[in-house]
Amino acid sequence: MEKTIAINAGSSSLKWQLYNMPSEEVIAKGIVERIGLPDSIFTIKYGDGEKYEVVQDIPDHDLAINMLLEQLKALHIIASFDEITGAGHRIVAGGEHFKESAVLNDEQIKLVEELAEFAPLHNPAEAKVIRVFQKLLPKTLNVGVFDTSFHTTMPEVNFLYSIPTEYYEKFQARKYGAHGTSHRYVAHRAAEMLGKPIEELKLITCHLGNGASISAVDGGVCVDTSMGFTPLAGVTMGTRSGDIDPSLLAYLMEKLGLTDIKDMIDILNKKSGLLGLSGISSDMRDLEHSDDPKAKVALDIFADRVRKYIGSYVTVLNGVDAIIFTAGIGENDVAMRKNIIDGMSWFGCQIDDEKNNVRGQERIISTDDSSVKVLLIPTDEELMIARDVEALKTK
Ligand code: ADP
Repeated sequence: MEKTIAINAGSSSLKWQLYNMPSEEVIAKGIVERIGLPDSIFTIKYGDGEKYEVVQDIPDHDLAINMLLEQLKALHIIASFDEITGAGHRIVAGGEHFKESAVLNDEQIKLVEELAEFAPLHNPAEAKVIRVFQKLLPKTLNVGVFDTSFHTTMPEVNFLYSIPTEYYEKFQARKYGAHGTSHRYVAHRAAEMLGKPIEELKLITCHLGNGASISAVDGGVCVDTSMGFTPLAGVTMGTRSGDIDPSLLAYLMEKLGLTDIKDMIDILNKKSGLLGLSGISSDMRDLEHSDDPKAKVALDIFADRVRKYIGSYVTVLNGVDAIIFTAGIGENDVAMRKNIIDGMSWFGCQIDDEKNNVRGQERIISTDDSSVKVLLIPTDEELMIARDVEALKTK
């Protein structure tokens, strides 16, 4: 049977999932962690709960992929490399060029590399991985699935910043958003769950994980999203600040004696958000188990920022049919979902405590008479990637 592999490569990791297509059955999945560091961890899960794990130095993505392919054969998950007819690669920045998933030839890979300015940690690693696939599996169709594609439908009024327009024209300084594959997946799934054509629905999708973003989706088309030029903007996140007044940067740099703006941005990316507010952890579970008042404030700020984005997107959409929760916090955090939705009864949104008492399971969690539905939908970016590959394979 033909197989498609969905690849999510970071600068030091490589997550993957192997599907039988078109049946969409997951036959194996795994992760290579700490690539380029001592004691890299290589894991494959397959079959009936079986697991293969090895800890050894894996200096680069080239070796990681080599090991992966060889091990798939050694574990009899595939009989030959030829079975893998498609590879879908998650790519963080697609800029304005990649409006949808695309077959990646040499020219397109160069474009992915050129977009490194927008995602310096991700795009170069992703381009490298695609080239390794081209070399090791020359017959396999490589497809790029871009985090930003779903957001390229945003109108100018929502993607432009109120700065001189020439900065957009000359330097492409604009809002791009992120998590697009997840927002696209849950929006379409929501339409199926609600039994209505997506074209008729106004949806607000909340991807709440370590990174978090909210999107306004009108008739299946993204019209606004909370992340910005980079994934630093929007709501409070695990370690990222979300929206702040940019003047604060100059003020704090002076106070902290910083001279390089990159150090300040680093603080906003890695030491802020829930971690910065609480001083305890970036992980929602740690904060919920803590008695520290700062943890409580961090939780309240998180809920407040998500709620404010939902409120503003009700206005952007001029109404809303359903609000969707997904990703680590959205899928698992019963109390946070309730905290966010409580206080939205003014536009007819009510959580059903019993239905909401669930983790990681597709379900409508609002009351039957709630005029705005609230849905819990576990995201599946890998499946979306595999489907996009399949669609381009048969084109
Ligand atoms: P990433 O953006 O790294 O993919 P995830 O989507 O895995 O992140 O989300 C991680 C977040 O989900 C963490 O803050 C974690 O605490 C939270 N989370 C996971 N499980 C639970 C749970 N049972 N209750 C509350 N929060 C949870």
